[in-house]
Amino acid sequence: MIVLMRHSATPSQLTNVVALVEGLGCQAHISRGERRTIVGVIGNGRPFDTERIERMSGVEKTMPVTRPFKRASREFHPQDTVVVVGDVAVGGGPVTVIAGPCAVESQERMSEIGQAVADAGAQMLRGGAYKPRTSPYSFQGLEEEGLAILARVRDETGLPIVTEVIQPDLVPLVTRYADVLQIGARNMQNFALLHAVGQAHRPVLLKRGMMSTVEELLMAAEYILSHGNDRIILCERGIRTFETYTRNTLDINAVPLLKRLTHLPVIVDPSHGTGVRELVEPVSLAAIAAGADGLIVEVHSRPEEALSDGGQSLLPEQFARLQSSVRAVSEVVGRAT
Ligand code: PEP
Ligand code: MN
Repeated sequence: MIVLMRHSATPSQLTNVVALVEGLGCQAHISRGERRTIVGVIGNGRPFDTERIERMSGVEKTMPVTRPFKRASREFHPQDTVVVVGDVAVGGGPVTVIAGPCAVESQERMSEIGQAVADAGAQMLRGGAYKPRTSPYSFQGLEEEGLAILARVRDETGLPIVTEVIQPDLVPLVTRYADVLQIGARNMQNFALLHAVGQAHRPVLLKRGMMSTVEELLMAAEYILSHGNDRIILCERGIRTFETYTRNTLDINAVPLLKRLTHLPVIVDPSHGTGVRELVEPVSLAAIAAGADGLIVEVHSRPEEALSDGGQSLLPEQFARLQSSVRAVSEVVGRAT
């Protein structure tokens, strides 16, 4: 339920509402907008008398939250959430670009790619040290050595690092190195992992499962939010359809839809969304035009030698060109960085 306070409500009237809500064994979340304050109420499963709240001074009305995702919903938190990672802000207007290889392969390669994407103006660096692969015989990642490489490239470039965590018991280790914990598409409904990153003190990049609905994505975010970690960046990365020319079908609908349904920032992954290098730029621009808060793009200096996802990785010079088109489109849609 949401309690909408009057414009004229005083701080003590707000305090009284919160006290009553908590006295009923529920949790109260205050959200201060430009003109009004709302109190989001998370119930304890037992029904309660909303009239008691409606009669309180300073209260305009109460409204039920009909969505199954409460903390993630815009009704609950009307203003955009801005996820701050070091000096970088994701959400709230300007477009943020995260770039780097699919996987961390070696110190030398990671430094080279890190420098190239930093020079082209990327704001964060990506790279998987733990790779969830379809085949157990494919490269699985450099694990902790990969994390250490990422940390050194963060020192070299100044870019915060985004890297995937694939199982709950690895959350403490990955948290020691990473600035953002990535939950991959295959793990979007790994509920133990969602609980673990909810308890971690790090922002989370939550990718949509390849067979998941928008509502399931928001329910996954709700798991993380339920632990009080509200630093979540959602990522549309394409879903499986009958189409075979592309690796996935990027669901562009999901971008403006998510922006309506939730306050959390939404970014797009055109690399996994298409699986085709030549499609990465046009799809990126469509994502920005559709309202995405940012992009996560795979870049590799020698894609033909990449240990994973070379075919969808941009060369550094292609990434630099993408950056200028992203800037141009961002300006047109009033979202320049
Ligand atoms: C990745 O980002 O390299 C990755 C494995 O992505 P996804 O989980 O979206 O497939
Ligand atoms: Mn990849």
